[in-house]
Amino acid sequence: MWKRCVQYVIDFFNLLYPSLCYACGNHLYDGEDGICVSCRMSLPYTFDDQQKYNTTFKVFDGRVRIRAASSYLYFKKKNRVQNLLHHLKYKGSKKLGIMLGKMHGEQLSMSPLFNLIDIVLPVPLHPEKLKQRGYNQSSLLAEGYADAMKIKWDDAILIRKTATSTQTKKSRYQRYENMQDVFECIQVNQITNKNILLVDDVITTGSTLEACVETLMKSGCSGVWIATIAVA
Ligand SMILES: [Zn+2]
Repeated sequence: MWKRCVQYVIDFFNLLYPSLCYACGNHLYDGEDGICVSCRMSLPYTFDDQQKYNTTFKVFDGRVRIRAASSYLYFKKKNRVQNLLHHLKYKGSKKLGIMLGKMHGEQLSMSPLFNLIDIVLPVPLHPEKLKQRGYNQSSLLAEGYADAMKIKWDDAILIRKTATSTQTKKSRYQRYENMQDVFECIQVNQITNKNILLVDDVITTGSTLEACVETLMKSGCSGVWIATIAVA
């Protein structure tokens, strides 16, 4: 009886506040979780995890040495991927972060290019921004990747020291200069000779990830792999 009452209350709330798909905004049916079946079948997947010289890898070519890179989805303005990232970054959808990391992580766990990784590290947010937002979306992703790939993750090893001014109106060299000395590794012994999967939500210029890779390599890790949810 009690169980049935609880179910009535849940059904009533679902009627008032139906769960919507994070990507397309349509109502979710029973059994659909976060992203509807139709979106899961038709999102703009890159399927790039089997090819080394893919779009994401090429962003870093000639800039910094990475072992492999993969992005889960193609980002375009006003596409469903933008909606997903918006929910992840600004709407506090923590569950979505872990879910997306898991979805991509499951794919990577089957790729021979990504089978040597020891630990997942997220790109850190500046402490001020972390305070404002309350969470680092990349840490949520890292948790999902680590879960799917059955490895550990840690968001206290790679930290951000200074806030940067906006990158979008700068030249590539200015962006590079702007990012110098922004990141730092603490607990260096945790990453010495380790293979690292560095994760972030989206790649635009690649400058942030590039600076993180440099910091990690200087700190003595063995190699860096990159995974993001979206590539522009
Ligand atoms: Zn949908």
